Amino acid sequence: MINSAQNIVILGAAESGVGAAILAKTKGKSVFVTDNGKIAIGAKNELLTYEIPFEEEGHNSDKIWRADLIVKSPGIPQDAPIVLAVKEKGIPVVSEIDYAYAFTEAKTICITGSNGKTTTTLWIYHILKKAGLKVGLAGNVGQSFAKQVALNDQAYYVLELSSFQLEDMYHFHANIGIITNISPDHLDRYNYEMERYVDAKFRMLDFMGPEDHIIYNSDDAWVLDFINKNPSKVHRVPFSSQGPLEMGGYLLNEQLILNIKTTITMSIHELALKGKHNAQNALAAGIAARLLDIRESVVRESLMDFENVEHRLEFVASVNGIEFINDSKATNINAAWYALESMTNPTVWIVGGVDKGNDYSELLSLVTEKVKAIVCLGKENQKIKDAFSDHVDTLVEAQSAEEAVALAYRLAQAKDTVLLSPACASFDLFQNYEDRGCQFKAAVRKL
Ligand code: ADP
Repeated sequence: MINSAQNIVILGAAESGVGAAILAKTKGKSVFVTDNGKIAIGAKNELLTYEIPFEEEGHNSDKIWRADLIVKSPGIPQDAPIVLAVKEKGIPVVSEIDYAYAFTEAKTICITGSNGKTTTTLWIYHILKKAGLKVGLAGNVGQSFAKQVALNDQAYYVLELSSFQLEDMYHFHANIGIITNISPDHLDRYNYEMERYVDAKFRMLDFMGPEDHIIYNSDDAWVLDFINKNPSKVHRVPFSSQGPLEMGGYLLNEQLILNIKTTITMSIHELALKGKHNAQNALAAGIAARLLDIRESVVRESLMDFENVEHRLEFVASVNGIEFINDSKATNINAAWYALESMTNPTVWIVGGVDKGNDYSELLSLVTEKVKAIVCLGKENQKIKDAFSDHVDTLVEAQSAEEAVALAYRLAQAKDTVLLSPACASFDLFQNYEDRGCQFKAAVRKL
């Protein structure tokens, strides 16, 4: 039904909306794009190139009401007036991912969870590419799924799916689904109910069948609870950092072991990325690759030579023996927990920003053990001060990345690490987490 709809209206003209519009156009549909805000120049040019009509700064066209199908961009909330209005009129609304899926035969590997999605997604993509498969990268990373299906369809897609994208899925089918972990994040979108957030993350299971596999973190109480409460036809493949599993992947005595069809064993010190969380990401990626029958040697090599993306425990530089690490993407407590956990030197920790309801007590024992000084980098730092000022020798405040780096440099000595792992969003002082990470790196390089 999705691919037979003839009059398509796209809500939102960013990466995914433009991709969906191009796909609809190349399939001979009548397409119209409508955006409530201003459309970026690049997006406008693409729409003009493909001769796709559009409107901006308001949803005014009558075409909206004549649509057979609406494709909604993930950034537009479910309760936006235009979404409510078209649904009220009975026009079906799908996500860009759902729409694109209707036009491809590809196998899909989908990653969701609270932390580690991008790393795991890119790691799997790296393995599949290295194995010579025709594979695309989509979802929250890379080009939109729809645009790739339209212009350069692949045999496999590795898709990072945020919970927002999962909300608008009705037909999409993952051949392999991965749940990295679940910790409170974006709870505001779920009326502060953790169960609803967990349900949203697992939504992809609803469309999976007996041929499909769900790879999940069996150390995670929320994940395990959901899996146990919801018997499903899907094959379940757990991974754990706490010891042996007959089928799945696990860590034991600093070894990573993949028990899928055969057994692969390697030292965690050989992995391309450090830290327990990255060993978990490697387990998930390795399992997915083995389920796809990628050769052992390719899996092993790819787990060793993957290069991480920016802003995730990224080594920046060593200045007078002080190591600087950029983990600006750590926008919640769980991610910062893993960053602190992986520190092996005395650490000067740069933390703070927009707090999404953080409970800092979860970090207290790691801070006591590893952190010698804290630099708060946020407009409002009172919660961090209350949580930690009695537990570290020094706690200071900064209002810019440059000031934070200068203070941290003064507080650190040779063989210490300065870690930016904010546990908070960045919007108080920066445009986004990338901007925060880049300003941090630029300040380090100026030292
Ligand atoms: P996401 O795409 O889910 O936000 P990323 O791979 O971009 O995940 O990583 C986000 C942050 O979480 C980074 O600070 C990273 O170091 C940390 N992280 C990565 N993998 C994990 C994991 N498995 N568990 C907890 N934290 C993780």
